Amino acid sequence: MKNIIIFGAPGSGKGTYSEEIKSKYGMGHISTGDVLRSEISNGTDLGKTAKGYIDNGQLIPDDLMIDILAKTYDSLGDCNGVIFDGFPRTTAQAEALKTMLKARGDDMGMMIELVVDEATLMARLLNRAKEQGRADDNEETIKKRFAVYHSQTEPLSDWFAKEGIRNVFTWKGSKEQMLSEIFSEIEKQS
Ligand code: AMP
Repeated sequence: MKNIIIFGAPGSGKGTYSEEIKSKYGMGHISTGDVLRSEISNGTDLGKTAKGYIDNGQLIPDDLMIDILAKTYDSLGDCNGVIFDGFPRTTAQAEALKTMLKARGDDMGMMIELVVDEATLMARLLNRAKEQGRADDNEETIKKRFAVYHSQTEPLSDWFAKEGIRNVFTWKGSKEQMLSEIFSEIEKQS
């Protein structure tokens, strides 16, 4: 399988669709948000540093994040392609990912962008706050995360388009429809 980068705003379904793709095709999966949350719950130094940024709705600095990503990728071992969920979020991270994969004889494969209107995103995140109790899923932090997404992450969409690997999927109210469109694009490109 090609590597897959899942890209989209907070609440767009990156984690959900990553799980579906992973179980259908048996791929490796890196969620940088999950890696950071596990560092926080293990009380590591990295977790302590990350917590300040996450609770504030900000991004972890690029140098640190790139280092974490490379270590996580190298610890995966042999995989039938890897799903990158929540990384890259800045142009510097994207350039670093491209370089890192090239150095390992691999490439970025395809990027899947999930486009969802902001009212739906907000409703989903507030609902997730009730169900999972994530510290950064409160209205004030969510608004900051949207602002960070628009200023630092969304411009990356065009970077992927220039790389010729962007595939956009727009939410029309049905998870099943999104999934079937995503699966057929993956299979077309595999
Ligand atoms: P997520 O679970 O993907 O929504 O990530 C939760 C939080 O972790 C984000 O709001 C950031 O603070 C941090 N984070 C996750 N991935 C990255 C990344 N690639 N770059 C910087 N910060 C990140």
